[in-house]
Amino acid sequence: MAHDEEDSGTTRGDNIKSAHSGQAAKSTRSVSGVRRGNVRRVLDALRLGGPSSQAALARQTELSPATVNAIVKALRADGVAEVRPVNGREFLVALVASHAAVVAVQVNVTSVHAALFDFGERVRLDSSAPLKEEGGDPGLVVDMVRSLAAEAGIGLLDLAGVAVGMQAPIARASGTVSSWARLQFPAWTDLPVAKTLEDDLGVLVIAENDANLAALAEWTWGAGQGAADFLYVMCAAGVGGGLVIDGRIYRGGDGLAGEIGHIVLEPSGPVCFCGSRGCLTTFVSERSILLALEASGSSRNSLREVVDAARRGDPASRRVLYEAGRHLGRAFASTAKLMAPSVIAVGGTLSEAGNLVFEGIQSSVEMHSLRAVSPAIRVCPAQLGDDATLFGGVAAVLAATGQGVSTLPRWAKPSKAVRQKTIIRNPNDRN
Ligand SMILES: [Zn+2]
Repeated sequence: MAHDEEDSGTTRGDNIKSAHSGQAAKSTRSVSGVRRGNVRRVLDALRLGGPSSQAALARQTELSPATVNAIVKALRADGVAEVRPVNGREFLVALVASHAAVVAVQVNVTSVHAALFDFGERVRLDSSAPLKEEGGDPGLVVDMVRSLAAEAGIGLLDLAGVAVGMQAPIARASGTVSSWARLQFPAWTDLPVAKTLEDDLGVLVIAENDANLAALAEWTWGAGQGAADFLYVMCAAGVGGGLVIDGRIYRGGDGLAGEIGHIVLEPSGPVCFCGSRGCLTTFVSERSILLALEASGSSRNSLREVVDAARRGDPASRRVLYEAGRHLGRAFASTAKLMAPSVIAVGGTLSEAGNLVFEGIQSSVEMHSLRAVSPAIRVCPAQLGDDATLFGGVAAVLAATGQGVSTLPRWAKPSKAVRQKTIIRNPNDRN
C-alpha cells in the first residue's frame, strides 16, 4: 500500500506527451466529472505551498476531501503528482514535472552560463562562455540554447521555455535592460530581451533580473519555502535583492523593487554609483570590504580571501565581516518596518562566512527592529548557492506553463552547492 504509492510518481501517463502545454488541462482528461477549475486549484496549492497532505489540500482549496482524492488520483495517473510517505504515517502529495525541459541562462557582464534541465530524462546539461564583449549578445544566447537542446536530443519546440536572468534590472514597461544599470550590456541596449529571443527561438522566453530569479528559486525550493513574504539578498561583488510576495516576484514601479543595496544608512557616507551617499552597498560590497581592510595594513584580493582569512582567525578580517553584518542588519531592520517579511535569506560570498557575518546581522536586527515586528522575522543563509538564478529560471518557466516540482531533484543540483547550517532566528523569538 504505502510502497505502491511511493513508486507511482515515476509512472508517466501516456496522455502527457508535450512539455509545452500545462499539465492542468491534460490532467482533467483522466477523470470526467472532475472540473478543470478544481484541478487548477489543487495544482496551484501544490505549486505555491509545496508537498501537502490531502487533508491540508482540502482545507486550502475548500474542496471536499472526496473531490481532492479524485483529483490527486487523476494527477498521479497522469504522472503529474506523486504521493510520498512521511514518518511512516502521513502521505504527502507532491508535484513532478514529468516531461518538461527548460533552459535557464544567466547573463553576467563577463560570462554567460546556460543549463538545460530535462525532467523527463532526469538530465542536466551545462554550457558557459567567458565574454570579451561585455554581456555578450542575444545571438550567443540563442546559439547556446540551440546547442544544449541538440545535445539533449530535444527539438526547440519541445522546450517548455527559456528563462534569462540578467545581471541588471529589466525595465518593466519596455522589457529592456534598464538604463539605470551600472553594468553595461552594449549589445542588448534598447532590445526587449524576452521578445528578441522569443522571435529567434520560437518558444516561451522569460527575462528577469538575476536576483529576482534567485529570490524565486529560494522561495520555491530553498530558504524561503512556504513564506508568504520573502526577501532574498545577494551579497557578493555588489548587493542585489529580490522580493517574492504570495509566490510571485514583486517588481514594483519600473522593475526596481528589492534594490535593498541602495537603502541609505549614512547620509554623509561614501558616494554610491547610484548618485546617493552612504547606501548599504557602499559598506558591504566586495570593494568596500577590501578597502576597509586595507586600513589595517593587510590587503586581500577578493572577498573570498577575506572570508578564508577570517575563518583562520585573522582579527582584522573577522572585524570587517562582523561590521558588514551589522550594516546588513540595519538595512534589514529598516526593510522590516516597511514590509515585515517573514523570512530574509542572505546569499553570495558574504553569506558563506556563516556566523562571522550572521552574528553582526543578528545584533543589529535586535538593536534596530521594532519589537512588535521583529519576532516574526527569520534571517538565514540562502540554500541554493551559485545556481540560484538558474533554478529560479526553471521555477519561473514551470510556473508560467502551469507545471511545478515540489522538491528540486538531486540530479538538478550542482555538486558544489553551498549549504550553510547556520540559522539565525531573531533573538526576540527565542523564548
Ligand atoms: Zn546607491
